[in-house]
Formats: sequence, structure tokens, C-alpha cells
Amino acid sequence: ARAHIGVTGLAVMGSNIARNFARHGHTVALHNRSIAKTDALLAAHGDEGDFVRTETIEEFVGALQRPRRVLIMVKAGEPTDAVIEELAAAMDEGDIIIDGGNALFTDTIRREKSLRERGLHFVGAGISGGEEGALNGPAIMPGGPKESYEVLGPLLESIAAQVDGTPCCTHIGPDGSGHFVKMVHNGIEYADMQLIGEAYHLLRDALGFDAEQIADVFTGWNQGELESYLVEITAEVLNQVDAKTGKPLVDVILDAAEQKGTGRWTVKAALDLGVPVTGIAEAVFARALSGSRGQRRAAVGLASGRLADKPADAEQFTKDIERALYASKVVAYAQGFDQIAAASTEYDWNLRPGDLATIWRGGCIIRARFLNRIKDAYDTNAQLPSLILDPFFQEAIENAIDSWRRVVATAVQLGIPVPAFASSLAYYDGLRAERLPAALTQAQRDYFGAHTYERIDMPGKYHTLWSGDRSEISAD
Ligand code: NDP
Repeated sequence: ARAHIGVTGLAVMGSNIARNFARHGHTVALHNRSIAKTDALLAAHGDEGDFVRTETIEEFVGALQRPRRVLIMVKAGEPTDAVIEELAAAMDEGDIIIDGGNALFTDTIRREKSLRERGLHFVGAGISGGEEGALNGPAIMPGGPKESYEVLGPLLESIAAQVDGTPCCTHIGPDGSGHFVKMVHNGIEYADMQLIGEAYHLLRDALGFDAEQIADVFTGWNQGELESYLVEITAEVLNQVDAKTGKPLVDVILDAAEQKGTGRWTVKAALDLGVPVTGIAEAVFARALSGSRGQRRAAVGLASGRLADKPADAEQFTKDIERALYASKVVAYAQGFDQIAAASTEYDWNLRPGDLATIWRGGCIIRARFLNRIKDAYDTNAQLPSLILDPFFQEAIENAIDSWRRVVATAVQLGIPVPAFASSLAYYDGLRAERLPAALTQAQRDYFGAHTYERIDMPGKYHTLWSGDRSEISAD
């Protein structure tokens, strides 16, 4: 047995990761349910490194050095369970199974527990960066037993993206934590894309810019604080011309966004944890609305009640949008990190937010200059109650706040939907409010359900006898 690692599931992601391992000098055992994929990979890229071709699971497992390390890159869900079962039956105590697919974190918790009981290590590893990242350096978020990371870490770190000499891979925490963190990463990606979409919508419909002009705006933004992979590719996408019509490609693509589900998972998990992730939720719902094509067709032409004209100063308004985008992005990340902190407490994971900011700086879709700032914020204060309270971000929002309000107000007056900009601002205003209307909510709940309330001036719980003499009694 000579292979350092095995990869099973050789579709786009698995093939590219296998090649990435091989290019870094590791001997890689290859396996796929249908042998055609294994042979296609070897035919096209067999010369890139040392591969071991295998056909059966037994042959595959037999080709691996101990403790065996197998990375599964198959379809999430039942196929993953089937492959785990086959592998586990052929493996020995101390061997490591890594699931690099987009598994639901609760599945990972279940699988880790069941394999631990059988003496095997199970590592749920979030892998971000799409096919390009898989080949050239992804961000990797492995969860699971700490001991297994000692054997596995160096291997994963060698193929991960590197930023300033630091690999974009670190042990995240126990069982489902790696996949949880990857899920929230995807949620933040949804929010970021929605915010960029809203900025584009405003530039197009409030200022009347064409795709090429908007591409220039994004190119400019990518030179500043907004510098990021998503802003960079937005400019490239907007510059793409459709060969069939000669029009900008973006103008001939159907405006109905699809989703594979990780954004929805993030919001569901956030609802269970009671954490407001308004930016991510608005992004998921905005995609759903865009996809409601029947309703949309029927609603075109409904009253708009446009209350304003286009902004007179296009340059100023473009600057406003840039600042609104930045501030809303801070909120989306703050909410995502809140969700991670809440899960860390709920599942006893002991997660380190600064580490996440560090490994998200490269390889993944949300990589951005901005993440250095987030890393700094948590390096300075690991207990930061909210990213928004970090002095750097406080100041950034202070500089952006007027622009942010102008953008949301203008969009509302023009009838341009900006759900993520608006809800991020509302979240910020809610967070900083000295007194929220929640006192009224509590009183109403006490009125109809005797749910009790606390007072600002005395400890304890109280109830008002609403249907009696309306006196207040102690409810402790
Ligand atoms: P797919 O999700 O399309 O899965 C195809 C692979 O799964 C094939 O190798 C296929 O084998 C195998 N497979 C499917 N069902 C079974 C089964 N019952 N038993 C054994 N093998 C099975 O491949 P991708 O490369 O797109 O993605 C792999 C994983 O990575 C997925 O979990 C996906 O969610 C995740 N992913 C992550 C991305 C990222 O950016 N991080 C991007 C894309 C995907 P066969 O050839 O025999 O059909």
C-alpha cells in the first residue's frame, strides 16, 4: 500500500482535488462508482502526479497507507451515506473518512457519532472555491476529532489556498462544525451576491447606466475597500458580450435565480438558533421571488407610486451605493458570525471566529480584502459582541451611514427593491436603538397569554390582571 490519500467520487470537484493532491507530491488512490470517470481523469491528467487506479472499494482501501485517509466527493445526502457505509465496512480502527461534499451539518453530527462508535474517525470538511478552487487551492473547513487533524491537517493544508504564507485551512472544531461553518460561508455568499445585485439594479435603473458603465464602476470599487472575488467577477460578467445578439450577456440571461439549498439551510438553522440573519434571509427570499415567474408576469405594470426623479448627481449617488454596499456587507458578516457564535455555544464547539476570517481570505468565493479587517477585529478582541462594535467597523459605518440612508430612501422612492440594503440598515438601527417597541410586544403577550414581563426598574417577573382590576402582581 503506497497511497497517501484516496479520493472517491471523481466528478468535477473530486477530480480537481485529486489532481491538486497529486500536484503537491502526494500519491493519490482514485475511485469512482463508474470506472469511466476514473479512466477519463487518468487519460487527461495521469501525468500530473502519482495516481493509483482502483476499481473496487476493497482495492481502493487496500491501496492506502495507514491510518487510511479517504476523501469522499460524491453527491450530498443518501449517496454519501451509501459510500460511507461501504468504506467503513472495508476500513480498520483509526482510519479516517473525510466528507468533502456540501453535507448538512446535522447529517455530519450523526455520521461522526456512528463512525466514532465503530472506531473510525469521521471528518466533515467544508470545501469552498468551486472547481477552480478545488484544483488550485480551496479554503478547507475540516471538523471532527482533533487527533485526526494531526494526521490529516498537513495533507489538507498543503493543497489549500495560501494567503501571506498561511494556509486557508485549519481544524474548525468537533463533529458538524466544519460543515456548519461552510454552510454559513455559503449563506454570507448569498447575502454578498444579493447586495451586489441590488447595487447593480440601482446603477441600472436609478442612474440609467448600461452594463459596460456598471462594469467600470465595479472595476473601480475593486480597487478600494470592496476589493473581493465577487466584485471582481461582477465586473467581468458585466463586460461579457453575447455572441448571438451582440448585447451584454447579462441583458439576455433570464432573471430567475436558482439555488441548491445551502442558503436555505443557513436560514433554517438561524431560525432554530434564534439569530437574526436578515441579509442572508432576504437573499434567499429574493432568489425565490425572482423565480416566481408566473406571479411576476401577472404583476408587471402594477401601480408604482414613484415619488422621486433619478438622483441628479450620478457621481455622488454612485459613491453612496459603494458605501451602502460596504456597510450592508459588514452587517451580513456580523450576522453570519453571530450565527456561528450561537451554534458554537449550542453545540459546545468552542469555535474561534478569528480563525474563520483567516481561512476565508483565500480560496473561497467570499474571499475579500475586508476579511483581513475581520481577522484584526477578532485578534484584538476575541469576545467581540458584534463585528459592528469593532472600532474599525464602527468608524466605517459612521462614514457610510448617510449614504446608506440616502440609497435606501431613494430606492424606496423610485420603487427599486433593495431588500438586503434596507433590512441591513433596519438591523443596524434596531441594534443601536436605545428602546425598541418590544416592550409593547411583551405587554400584548401578557395581555392575551399571561406570558409575563420584566420591568426596567425592579427585578423579577410580573403580570397585569388585564381582565380583572388591572393591578400588577408578581409572577415569580
Ligand atoms: P456531484 O455532486 O454531481 O456528484 C457526482 C459524483 O457522485 C460522481 O462521482 C458520482 O459517481 C457520485 N455518486 C452519486 N451517487 C452515488 C452513489 N449512490 N454511490 C456512489 N457514488 C455516487 O459532483 P460534484 O463534483 O459537483 O460535487 C461533489 C460534492 O462537492 C457534492 O457534495 C457537492 O455538493 C460538493 N460541491 C462543492 C462545491 C464547492 O464549491 N465547494 C461545488 C460543487 C460541488 P458516478 O460517476 O458513478 O455517477
